[in-house]
Amino acid sequence: MLCLTCSAFCFSLLCKNCRDQFLKVKPKIRIVEDLKIYSFYNYQDISLLLNTKYYAIGSRVFSLLAKKANAHFLTTHQEFFKQYIAHGVGIDDDPKKGYSHTGVILHAFRNMITPIYGELQAKNKVKYAGKSLEFRQKNPRGLVYKSGNKNLVIFDDIVTTGLSMLEAKKAIEKGGGNVLFGVVLSDAKK
Ligand SMILES: [Zn+2]
Repeated sequence: MLCLTCSAFCFSLLCKNCRDQFLKVKPKIRIVEDLKIYSFYNYQDISLLLNTKYYAIGSRVFSLLAKKANAHFLTTHQEFFKQYIAHGVGIDDDPKKGYSHTGVILHAFRNMITPIYGELQAKNKVKYAGKSLEFRQKNPRGLVYKSGNKNLVIFDDIVTTGLSMLEAKKAIEKGGGNVLFGVVLSDAKK
């Protein structure tokens, strides 16, 4: 097959050059209000790969990105997950779309958290990509959490303004859950 980003012939999704260039873990932590959000990749490095979420191949790309992020997180947070029994939810984890990109990320982190698939589905199917902060504030997703009293990690592909993460946190707390922190593949804040 051909490498997804440079079209060189290779035996996996990305050739070795592109793996070395784009799949470098560069961990960051962002605090939004009182929520800690961990991220793993430079947005510029993987923005093209993240766009595959609209296509079938995206499930394999997201799995590759998430597994590498998970391996890194495991080295820094093993002790934490020994102390807590934590569950994980993905923002707008809606498997009706064929596959759910946040579901794929949850699956890659199942050695640390127990995934709850299909949670936090949006009542309003509003698209945020390329929209202003004002638009995002005026059009909340209407996320709903129904899994009750649990310790939770919230997963998403990217964090931009942090509004979706905060909306998810509020929905979980309203439904009786306790949010530990957020995990995303990439922090897209400029
Ligand atoms: Zn390549």
